[in-house]
Parts: sequence; structure tokens; C-alpha cells
Amino acid sequence: MAQAFPPKGQEKYNVVVIGGGTAGLVTAAATAGLGGRVALIERAKMGGDCLNYGCVPSKALISSARAIHTIRRAEDFGLRKLEPEFDFREVFERMRACRARIEPHDSVERFESLGVDVFRGQARFLSPHEVEVDGVTLRAAKFVIAAGSRAGVPEIPGLKVVPYFTNETIFDKLNEKPASLLVIGGGPIGCELAQVFQRLGVAVTILQSAPQILHREDDDVSSFVAERLRAEGIRILLDTKWHSIEKKDCTVRARVTARPAGETQAREMDVVADQVLVAAGRVPNIEGLNLEAAGVKYTKRGVAVNDALQTSQPHIYAAGDIAGSYQFTHLADHHARVVVRNILMPSWAGRARVDISALPWSTYVDPEVAHAGLSEKDAQRRGVAYDVYTQQMSGVDRAIVSETDAGFAKVLTVKGTDKILGVTIVAEHAGDLLHEFVLAMKHGIGLGKISATIHAYPTYAEIARKLGDQYQRTRLTPFAKKLFAWLYRRART
Ligand SMILES: Cc1cc2nc3c(=O)[nH]c(=O)nc-3n(C[C@H](O)[C@H](O)[C@H](O)COP(=O)(O)OP(=O)(O)OC[C@H]3O[C@@H](n4cnc5c(N)ncnc54)[C@H](O)[C@@H]3O)c2cc1C
Repeated sequence: MAQAFPPKGQEKYNVVVIGGGTAGLVTAAATAGLGGRVALIERAKMGGDCLNYGCVPSKALISSARAIHTIRRAEDFGLRKLEPEFDFREVFERMRACRARIEPHDSVERFESLGVDVFRGQARFLSPHEVEVDGVTLRAAKFVIAAGSRAGVPEIPGLKVVPYFTNETIFDKLNEKPASLLVIGGGPIGCELAQVFQRLGVAVTILQSAPQILHREDDDVSSFVAERLRAEGIRILLDTKWHSIEKKDCTVRARVTARPAGETQAREMDVVADQVLVAAGRVPNIEGLNLEAAGVKYTKRGVAVNDALQTSQPHIYAAGDIAGSYQFTHLADHHARVVVRNILMPSWAGRARVDISALPWSTYVDPEVAHAGLSEKDAQRRGVAYDVYTQQMSGVDRAIVSETDAGFAKVLTVKGTDKILGVTIVAEHAGDLLHEFVLAMKHGIGLGKISATIHAYPTYAEIARKLGDQYQRTRLTPFAKKLFAWLYRRART
């Protein structure tokens, strides 16, 4: 029988959750599902960034842009040359229709039906045990801050008075196809959207302040992606120092000193475009929460938490982007699961802890870049001794017959063993291929066992077995070779 709780807003809740994005929604749904009394506060759109201005709309556009690109490559598949016919606005309408299909999963109605009391408005702490929303004071035993992040806007002289898009506006407010687009930031969001717009016929320039795009990735990965983007016509400027940006008539003019990708020297230049997209990192949504009243400590990276996701006030947790770690939907989901368990279970039962040792991520450029664990850069920085095994996609039959054989995978192992430290895959379906390695890393399965596992032919997943085979070949020591030769000789006599 369902529990009878006091009327909405009255008396004490088990949990009050601030923010209706992934971290908040998963926390609220799981708490209600386990029988807890939970309130969820959302000031804007249910579903947060991922549904409204992040993963969902960006991946919907990426799929249309890929289709356009594949049609342009018709001759590679033995077809006659084709030019895709499309309308920019219809591509955006399709993206919004995809989003609308997912929206009901995160709606107020659905969450109320799950037993969550949903409040609309800005949440603000009054004390460590009270939160106010729209004139109502909510009290709870525990609180979860899941207020997410937003686009950070860099200090560029003139940017304050130049109109620009961010991820919060580009999917809904860009109504006409611009002839050209300046993308400020060459991280995952900037690169994904740059490729989308270029494929939709917009002339794109990426301005990146770091010496490489996708700066978390190893140099070989980043330069491979940069070459692919440039081959599609995207202009990439690295080591960018900004002098000014201004709008004149209908165009935006940026004055920068920058180094074009593929060149060694930076030079001063003007970059002109119709529109600007700012994708230069994220900042936590701290403002307005009145964390001082709650005694919750934070930095400019987000709310400070321990590995059980408790803030400086042990009964107040933080989850998702605002917790200042990697900013991914799947990490927000993992955080929520850790928080739900820690809130429910008494501390003597042991704390659930965030474990990001095998955290996967994927950047949905084409070909995709997927990564988990240590990169070579990480291993070198930390002084970890490693072996590296690299397999080109051009050695994978399925990739060859599908005309998708650009890319490679590399696996780092503890030196002299098959224990996997990290993996990066740059390939069609890399984000899906990664999970065999993520499972292996999480559960201590080495490359030897991957080699010994039958992989269906012809699949992209054979790349994992081939990497395993590479490791096995290193075990063929001179002694082992001599032993095998002796065994064969003996068998012939
Ligand atoms: C363009 C783009 C593409 C992305 N693509 C991917 C991807 O492919 N894969 C991936 O894993 N991640 C992706 N991300 C990142 C992903 O969207 C975030 O990591 C994820 O949404 C974080 O979830 P969250 O719950 O922490 O925060 P959010 O989704 O930001 O939700 C926080 C919510 O809290 C609300 N809020 C804030 N302050 C208050 C307050 N004081 N009171 C009430 N409500 C408040 C906000 O309105 C918001 O709805 C992408 C992000 C962007 C911008």
C-alpha cells in the first residue's frame, strides 16, 4: 500500500532536491521509488541541460549532419555523385521533434505520478535545514544540490556588447542559416557543433585558446580529429590570444593573434563571421542558492564534496555538474545513485563512493573519440610506467567494407602486464566500442582475456580482440619460441 504523506510542502521531507536535470531527476525518482518523501525544485525546464540544451539536441543535429555527409560521400559507396537536398530550418525542426519525444520522461506530470512533489521556482537556502521556493519554506532531513552548470563566457574585450549564442540559445533561437560561424572554444561541445554547422553548409572557424583542440586527449588523438575537421573545411585557430571583438553592420569581426592548425607560427589576424557561438567551458550554477546561509563551502569550480558527495555540511549532498568534477550526464547519473544510497543507508553500513577510475566519455565528432582511464599524457604526468598497443581501423574488415576505416584505438597497460590502465578509440561507433574495455577495467579483466574471447566477424568490435592479440604476441619470448619449436620438432618424429 502506498504511504500517506502530509500535503505537498508541509512538514518535513526525507530529501529536498534542487535542480531537475539528470542528477536531480535520478535522485528524486529513486528516492520516491524506495518509499522516501521527496521534493524536487526546478527553476527552468525539467530535464536540465542534457534534454533541453545539451546531449539530446546536439546529438539529434549530429545525426542529420552525418546523413548529409554520407550522401555527399555517395561515390565512396559505389553510387553516383549526389548532392543532399535539405532545408536548414527543417533540420532544426526535426531536432526539436526528437527532443519533444523524450520530454515526457522528464516532465512534472511524470515525476508527480512517481510520488515526487515538484516545485517550480528558484531554490534558496534559508538555513542548513530550510530551503525557500516561491514563498514556500521546505524542510528536510537531507538536501541534494543538483543545480548544474551553464556556459562560461570568456573575458574578451567587446564580447559583452556583441550578440552571441550559447548552448542555451543556439538550438531554439537560431532561425536562419548563417553564412559563417565563429565558434569560441575547441572542446567537445565546440568541435561537435562546429562539424554539424560545417556539414549544414556554414563556413566555420574554431578559435581555441589551448595549443590543441580536445585538449584533454593525447596529441595524436587531437591532431587526428583536427585534420578530419580541416579536411571538411573547418578553419581551426590555436593558441588564440584575443585583442577585441566587435559587431559592424551585419558581421562580427574578431582581432586575434593565433596559430592556424598545421602551422608553427602565430600571427595577428582578423576573423569575420555572421554569428558567434560561445562554447568555452562551463561554470557552476552557484549564484542564488545562498549557500552561505546553509554553511556549504564552494569554489569557482563548484560545490566542494568528499567522495561520498557530502558537502561541508554532511547532511547536504551535491551531485552532477555542480559537484565540480567531469561534466557528463552519465556521471550525474552515477552521482545520484551514490547519493541515494548514502542518504538511505546508515553510515555504519558503509558509504558508497564515487569511482571514476574507469569513467568513460565520448565526443561525438565523426569519427567519434571515446576514452576511459589514463591517457598517455596522464600516465607520463603521473610517472606511471606503461606499454601501449595501437590498432588502426584500417585493419578491421568491417570498417573497410563500410568505408569507415579512418581512426585507431590504443590501449595502455601496466608495463609488462595486460592490466588495462586506459583506452582511447577514434573510430565510427567508438563510444559503443569503448564499453568492452570499460567493463574490463572495472572488473580487472586483462587484454589476454579479451584476446581469448570470441568476437563476431565482421564487427567493429574485432578491434578489441586484435589489441588483445597484440598483447599475446609480446608473450612469445625467445624462450617460448624455442620451446614451441622443440614441441613441433618432437611431434614430427
Ligand atoms: C551542448 C552540450 C552537449 C552535451 N553533450 C553531452 C553528451 O553527449 N554526453 C554527456 O554525457 N554529457 C553531455 N553534456 C553534459 C551534460 O548535459 C551535463 O553533464 C548534465 O546535463 C549535467 O546534469 P546536472 O543534473 O548536473 O545539471 P543540469 O542538467 O544542468 O540541471 C541542473 C538544473 O538545475 C536547475 N537549477 C539551477 N539552479 C537552480 C536553483 N537555484 N533552483 C532551482 N533550480 C535550479 C537548472 O535550471 C537545471 O535545470 C553536454 C552539455 C552540453 C552543454
